[in-house]
Amino acid sequence: MKDKANHQLNDGLKYDRQHIWHPYSSLVNPLPCYSVEKAEGVYITLESGEKLVDGMASWWCAIHGYNHPVLNQAINDQLQQMSHVMFGGLTHQPAIQLAEQLIRITPESLQTVFFCDSGSVAVEVAIKMAMQYWQAKGDKTKTKLLTIKNGYHGDTFAAMSVCDPVNGMHHLFSSLLPKHFFVESPNCQNNQQWCLQDMQAMTATLEQHHHEIAAIILEPIVQGAGGMRIYAPDYLAHARKLCDQYDVLLIADEIATGFGRTGQLFACEHANICPDIMCLGKAMTGGYLSMAATLATEKIGRIISTADPGVFMHGPTFMGNPLACAVSLASIQLLLDSSWQQNIIKLEQQMIESLMPCQNHSKVKDVRVLGAIGVIELNDDVDVASLQQKFVKMGVWIRPFRNLIYIMPPYIIKPEQLKKLTDAMLASL
Ligand SMILES: *Cc1c(COP(=O)(O)O)cnc(C)c1O
Repeated sequence: MKDKANHQLNDGLKYDRQHIWHPYSSLVNPLPCYSVEKAEGVYITLESGEKLVDGMASWWCAIHGYNHPVLNQAINDQLQQMSHVMFGGLTHQPAIQLAEQLIRITPESLQTVFFCDSGSVAVEVAIKMAMQYWQAKGDKTKTKLLTIKNGYHGDTFAAMSVCDPVNGMHHLFSSLLPKHFFVESPNCQNNQQWCLQDMQAMTATLEQHHHEIAAIILEPIVQGAGGMRIYAPDYLAHARKLCDQYDVLLIADEIATGFGRTGQLFACEHANICPDIMCLGKAMTGGYLSMAATLATEKIGRIISTADPGVFMHGPTFMGNPLACAVSLASIQLLLDSSWQQNIIKLEQQMIESLMPCQNHSKVKDVRVLGAIGVIELNDDVDVASLQQKFVKMGVWIRPFRNLIYIMPPYIIKPEQLKKLTDAMLASL
């Protein structure tokens, strides 16, 4: 029996290597891939038998852990009603209730919701909204975006055009990508005195080019996949002021930071600001289904809707999918009903205590912790495949990239499980 199962696993992995693309993968030289049998709570169980403590929450998503009875129930209940209907001309309670909930918990002036099927699409929609807004106002010159380096906003074309130009591989697609304005990313650490000189590049670019700039797009407080960088709330607050001063919209991409990850429900709250447009995704469904949303102010909604062509030009096939709406609603409710904020402070405290001491290690460039995010930045890039294998042997699932070993575990993780993750991070040095 065991032999047969092993055989099947190996055949499966071989087929996978030859036929299936993974994120940023090669079909000729694929890195090893581990086959998962099941996932429950903070554990991912591999088909080969190892039970791993999950440090990634499946890329920021599974905030309540896996196979959660409340979320399972929400999907099951919705399944009995309907799994999907088109959103053109039809609506339903899960979408209405989710929109109400999102509008209630996000910064006050965000009053409209566009449901998308992934984070990248939420960014596309945000950019389209900004463009249509200025066109509707009769301003034909505001067609560019301004963003900060080291950002990540997704893999579709408009989103890619505002990702970090180096990490984002702009040279591969340069003939297709629109050229936007990039300024240096802020150097200020979240907990350090903020430095006004970080703002100078943005101020100068706006001063010179504001008549061409439709919006600033950035990840508030934490830049995720572009480098796991953390910056001062004052930088964000100042960016908001500049947007008002120069009549430019502010798009906050909260796809990674939203739903408590940084210690506030949304990272914009660290700076007490309200963006004009906000993108949500990732943790929205608690990691169950692909679902995202783009929220905007009443004014943006009204202006787009009253000028030619009088409609917002976007409409995905699976828009407002009822299963995804129902599980999002349940996930957000579960979060709000929990003592998530105290919980995240505890995780933050534990990560500060366990990770900060390695700041003086010869291989370590920097250590950063905010909310339920812990990052060790090394001087050199890691060998992902061999490090991954070591982590699996140590019983943890941590996936480093470039020179970054980082964790963002499910919020339900217990102190001894988190210790296993941080111990593994330290051991890997
Ligand atoms: C992951 C991410 C995206 C893209 O979301 P997908 O669901 O992968 O398309 C966009 N912006 C940020 C900040 C992200 O972290």
